[in-house]
Amino acid sequence: MLKSKKILMAMVTACMLTPIMPTYLPVLGTNHVWAAEDGQASGIDYLVLVNKMHKLPADYEAKVPLVTAKNSMGREFQVERDTYAHFVQLREALLKQGIQIEMDSIYRSVARQQEIVKEFTEKYGEDYVKKYVAVPGYSEHHTGLAVDICLVVDGKVIDDNDEMIAQKDIFARIHPLLADYGFILRYPQGQENITGYSYEPWHFRYVGKDVAKEICRRGVTFEEYIVARKG
Ligand SMILES: [Zn+2]
Repeated sequence: MLKSKKILMAMVTACMLTPIMPTYLPVLGTNHVWAAEDGQASGIDYLVLVNKMHKLPADYEAKVPLVTAKNSMGREFQVERDTYAHFVQLREALLKQGIQIEMDSIYRSVARQQEIVKEFTEKYGEDYVKKYVAVPGYSEHHTGLAVDICLVVDGKVIDDNDEMIAQKDIFARIHPLLADYGFILRYPQGQENITGYSYEPWHFRYVGKDVAKEICRRGVTFEEYIVARKG
């Protein structure tokens, strides 16, 4: 997402400058087992392609198994079940290396996006909305499989786009771990002509471990992988 995200997030809630104990509180049915395998048994397409050209399939939102979880700053999110289980593992692995990532923006419904477009059109006009706000149905955040993170460095939350891009050393340590937990970096540097988005070191997409490792091995974008896979 563009960081109009900044503005959108400011509307929702700002990250608080509070350090930090992990307090993930999944809200789940009592029978749910937190087995964080690549089970992917929920019946959704974990390789769904949503970008500026490809709309979210109409029946997708009704099927996606969302869970509710909080980040360490107490903000609540909805996120696809397997995506969250793997995110928790990724976060823990990074904490062991002294790196703290937190959920910053995850699932956003098509309906919510429509409201945002309406609100922002009234406030800022159509030109602004066309430039900065995703068209409802065309944001990967509708899938529940996309995770925007913020960083916590020395107790300070870093969630501004430019400040995050400046954290090159930290992201250089985060990105190589993503595939082990089933995530890819969705908008890599220099690939905006393919992905439609400029570099977003914070936007991770869950695809499952096998596919994530294959995409990593080939060094391709998700778009290129999907085209090649369909042959
Ligand atoms: Zn994003």
